[in-house]
Order: sequence, then structure tokens, then C-alpha cells
Amino acid sequence: MAEKSFKYIIVGGGVSAGYAAREFEKQGVKPNELAIISKEGVAPYERPALSKGYLFPEGTARLPGFHVCVGSGGERLAPEWYKEKGITLILSTEIIKADLPSKTLKSAAGDTFKYEVLIIATGSTVFRLENFGIQGADAKNIFYLREIADADKLVEAIKSKKNGKALVVGGGYIGLELSAALKINNFDVSMVYPDPWCMPRLFTADLAAFYEAYYTKKGVNIIKGTAAAGFVSNEKGEVKEVKLKNDQVMEADIVVVGVGAKPLINLFTGQLEEDKGGIKTNAFFKTSVDNVYAIGDVATFPMKMYGDIRRVEHVDHSRKSAEQAVKAIFAKEQGKEIGAYEYLPYFYSRAFDLSWQFFGDNVGEAVIYGNRDPASEKPKFGTYWIKDSKVVGAFLEGGTPEENKAISNIAKKQPTAPTPDSLATEGVQFASPP
Ligand code: FAD
Repeated sequence: MAEKSFKYIIVGGGVSAGYAAREFEKQGVKPNELAIISKEGVAPYERPALSKGYLFPEGTARLPGFHVCVGSGGERLAPEWYKEKGITLILSTEIIKADLPSKTLKSAAGDTFKYEVLIIATGSTVFRLENFGIQGADAKNIFYLREIADADKLVEAIKSKKNGKALVVGGGYIGLELSAALKINNFDVSMVYPDPWCMPRLFTADLAAFYEAYYTKKGVNIIKGTAAAGFVSNEKGEVKEVKLKNDQVMEADIVVVGVGAKPLINLFTGQLEEDKGGIKTNAFFKTSVDNVYAIGDVATFPMKMYGDIRRVEHVDHSRKSAEQAVKAIFAKEQGKEIGAYEYLPYFYSRAFDLSWQFFGDNVGEAVIYGNRDPASEKPKFGTYWIKDSKVVGAFLEGGTPEENKAISNIAKKQPTAPTPDSLATEGVQFASPP
């Protein structure tokens, strides 16, 4: 059993770990000071690709093509980059115990890792249907999507069940992106979710109506207001039928489940303060223990703009929180200070020919505008959210890069809102005057 020591250890090797490594390098980390320990067998990559390009039949995304930091237009950090910079990548290694008082981590293989500064970047894990006691949920060909190994299994099934029937469980962005990817792969796709409309945490009924109509036009069969209640397998143990709560029975060669995720913080329970399901941090991502930081999906941090604390499961925050934490670590070592984390929530999704972006807060009155005809060549529409007479959130489907930038400025500056009617008439021009 080996024991290794590093000045800095990042546990978890996903998006935030990769962006943290780049920032460590910018800040002048010395060779052999930093290690990234990851359960996955590959260097950090842009996770959103797994539900998009990774599944496409043409123009397929594969590593090393989407290692961080290409998703934000930065340099691609292939495994050689870490080697060159003297950053140790310890892959296919799961940490199963963390003892913060002795600054020690233990891996499943029994190795010990000592650190001076720890960054927790363990991300999230998906909710699994077997945990809800759903009958037959352990059948073969029921898939979840979080890591590259999950995506590889799904790709295999897409090949072996060519032109088959797929049922997607869940109406969030993962469900929407996966339904589109399966349809593009020529599957007969149905989507089932219990909510009255898709993406209910972000979409208003009006926004969802467009996406549901568009998906229907593409041939995706949407079944709302019900959920998977049980699975029936064939003699090989592969899923064959899905029973729904409304007594409908759906044939399926593949089931893909996207019903949410929870942050992976169990290693630290009882050792760090928690809030809102995550590890509580300050505006520099320092936890309740001085030399321990938490970034990405696991961090519950002060959201300066809105005067509250939040946990955010979006890729943009995982990148920016990583950079903020590393800057703070180096500033502290040099007796300097940096500004508090200023984050404007940003989330996006792409499916079929659609592409939307959202900035800010989706609270208050929603005002929708634009062309929402699912049959039109280039639908373009958006929504503004008005709270306390200010525009606090903005969503845009089909925007140009300049328009997306303009709506992000609106969500940041929070201008006084005109009347809902004139906001609806002005549409994107309110953000981006001609
Ligand atoms: P992750 O990137 O999940 O990385 C965590 C890493 O830690 C993983 O490699 C994991 O294996 C490792 N790990 C966990 N526990 C241990 C342990 N005990 N020991 C060692 N290693 C461990 N966000 C958007 O804004 N837009 C999108 O379009 C979008 N698409 C997405 C599509 C998919 C399929 C998924 C799964 C997520 C998507 N997201 C999207 C969310 C975004 O990817 C996450 O918010 C982001 O990856 C979080 O970064 P992270 O570093 O906190 O966690």
C-alpha cells in the first residue's frame, strides 16, 4: 500500500478539477505539488458533451477532442499537458475515506494520500430508479448518464439495438437532450415525465409548449403527467416493457433515465458544514475547515447578486468556482486578498437544431416574446422575468452570440422593466437595440 504526499490535492477529476488545474498552472504551481485523484479513467473533460456530440451518429465527439478547457474556448488539456506541467493525474482511483483532521485520503485500493490543501470536486451522482423501489429497475439496458463509462455503454446499446424503441424517463434537460440524440440515431423515442410540462424548474408553460410541440414534430412521443412504475425483462434479463403509473405499457429496447442528481459529499459528512444539500463555502469556496475548499456541483456558496446562498449544478459555475478557489488559495499564501465570487447564473442546452441560453434568475412575472412556431425554419423567441419592476432573468432560443451576450448583460444589470406589453413587443431588441 503506497503513501504519497502532495501540497495540493483535488479529489474528483471532472470539469471543475480541470479548470482548477489550468488556474494552478497560471498561478505558478511547481512540479509535483498538485495531484488530481479521479474515479474516472480519463483526464478532465467537458461533461456536457456526453449527452450531445458523444451520442451523435455523425461528427461524433470523442476524447481527446473534448478535454477541458475547449468548452469555454480555451486550450485543450490532454493528458500530456499535465505531464509537462508536473501535475500528477491519479486516474481510476476512488477515494473511499477522507479524514480531514489528519489531512489524509484513502483509496479503494488501500493507498494513502496526504495533503496540505484539499479541493473537493466530486460533482454529483444520479438518482437511480432502484433506489425508489421501482420493480425491475435493475434490468439490462436501463441507462443513466453521468460519466464517460456510462456514455460508452449507451453508445454500445444504440449500436446493438439499431432502429429500436427507446423510452426516456425524465423531462429535464438531460431527458430532452437524450431524446433528441436517440431520435437522431433513428430510434422510435418516447419520453415520460410526471410534470405538467418539460424542464419545469426553468421553463414556463409557454416556453415548454414550444419545445414539446417541436419534439412532437420531430417524432418524439411525449407522455406527461405520469412516471415509470415497473420494468419487465426478457429471458436475457434485458428490459422489454415499461409499465407506467397510468397503466400504459410501453415497449422498449433501451431505457434512459434522467431524473436528477445529488452532490457527492458523503465522504465529508460530519466533518464539514453543509447547507442546501451541499458543502457550505464562503465566497472563495473555502469550507468550514481552513485548508479545505469545495468547488463545482458540491459547493453551496454566497450568491452575491441575490443576497442568498445557492448550490449550482451548471458547467459555467463549475469552471468559474474552480478558478476563484485556486486564485484565493494563492492569494492567501501570498498574504493578498481577492474579490468575492460574483456569479451570474448561466445555463444552456442544445438539441436537434435548437439552442438556448439563460442568464439570471427565473423569478417573478415571465414575459414571452418572439416566433414560437415549431414549424418555422428558424424559431427565435425569449422570455424575460420581472421582479420588483426590474428585469432579473432572460432566456433566448436561437440567439446570435451578440444577442446572447446582450441578454446576459440585461440579467446582470437588471434594468427597470417597461410594461410587460412593451417588453413583449420589443423582444430581443430590448436587450440588443438595433
Ligand atoms: P463533475 O464534472 O461531475 O466531476 C466530478 C468527478 O469526480 C468525476 O470525474 C467523478 O468520477 C469524480 N469523483 C466523484 N467521487 C469521487 C471519489 N470518491 N474519488 C475519486 N473521484 C471521484 N451543465 C450545463 O450548464 N450545460 C449543459 O449542457 C450540461 N450538460 C450536461 C450533460 C450531462 C450528461 C451531465 C452529466 C451534466 C451536464 N451539465 C451541464 C452539468 C455539468 O456538467 C456539471 O455541473 C459539471 O460537470 C460539474 O462539475 P464538477 O467538477 O463539480 O463535477
